[in-house]
Amino acid sequence: MIVYTLKCQNEHAFEGWFASSTAFDDQAATGKLVCPMCSSTTIIKAPMAPAVAGTKKGALQADELKKMRQFMTGMRKYVEKNADYVGKEFPEEARKIHYGEADPRHIYGETTLEEATELVEEGIDIAALPPDLDEEAN
Ligand SMILES: [Zn+2]
Repeated sequence: MIVYTLKCQNEHAFEGWFASSTAFDDQAATGKLVCPMCSSTTIIKAPMAPAVAGTKKGALQADELKKMRQFMTGMRKYVEKNADYVGKEFPEEARKIHYGEADPRHIYGETTLEEATELVEEGIDIAALPPDLDEEAN
């Protein structure tokens, strides 16, 4: 894996993980790279040497943890801005959307690990949302 620090046209920096440097070029060229903060698809590599991840064992360095927190906060903000909050109805609503009984849209909410596992087993595409780590009051 290669980690690149990426930047969108609005100067939001975030990290992208790629199988190879050509994987970045492919995804960038096809508009698959999306800024987690403003959903811009105009993404460039920040001028920084790529780091190879996965070789280090043990705890992450403090600066890496900080970057990860920023990335997770950005992801959470993106979801909160672009998805409907459905609370504990999440498993039911996710099924309805999956089986075409509700309007296709992005949702987020709460679920137990057990319910989440069932959804995944049914082939429903879900992801865990990072916790709210934002310290800024806005
Ligand atoms: Zn952005």
